[in-house]
Amino acid sequence: MKNAVKKKRNTGLSSSVIIVKGIRIAKEIISKKFSQCDLHACKHACCHQGALVGTKRIKEIKKHLPKLFPMMRQEAVALVKRKGFHLDSIYSRFDLNQGHVHHYIRVCKNRCVFLAYDDSGGCVLQKYAAKHNVKYVLKPDGCWSFPIDLIGNRLVVYKWDKLPCLNDAKNKNSPPIYKTCKNEIIDFLGKDGYAQLLDKVKKQLSSAKE
Ligand code: SF4
Ligand code: SF4
Repeated sequence: MKNAVKKKRNTGLSSSVIIVKGIRIAKEIISKKFSQCDLHACKHACCHQGALVGTKRIKEIKKHLPKLFPMMRQEAVALVKRKGFHLDSIYSRFDLNQGHVHHYIRVCKNRCVFLAYDDSGGCVLQKYAAKHNVKYVLKPDGCWSFPIDLIGNRLVVYKWDKLPCLNDAKNKNSPPIYKTCKNEIIDFLGKDGYAQLLDKVKKQLSSAKE
């Protein structure tokens, strides 16, 4: 759309940036609509590209790997046995712990090797962890918080419009992300930070109405 004039979407919010505890809140956290995950409908589409893991998590996953195999897809087990569960290439991002090396988890037949691909299974790391009470040690942080993430000092929403759950046109009637992803935001900002966020959003909304 070469010469199209980009229309600014009216979100009912003023354009001033919200900052909570030194963290800049991307406007999409407030304006974008997002429903609770419906795994049956989306078939775990966000797990089709693998996920980022660092040295510490890699070590933990390796420790549990033999017990994860029976829960994984056969073809994923064969691939992991042959090549390991993550790519060799190193992924670098300015805000990642530089003392750790980061890689992407491998994909097998268009799905993360740890995706069991059934609604009762889903992420093998999560399922296994729930059974053995090792919640935050195995599943990558980025998977817990998706579709939001803290990049440096910015709390952002991933731009992945091909995912139906992040496609604005399909989610007009859903609540905004800052409401749906309350728990994930609390993980980043704390309960007091979340309360501050709600307060600032309320003020923005009422000043936009004046
Ligand atoms: S974030 Fe989207 S694609 Fe991923 S599980 Fe939730 S609804 Fe499905
Ligand atoms: S580690 Fe689990 S949640 Fe993350 S992409 Fe793989 S299957 Fe999905």
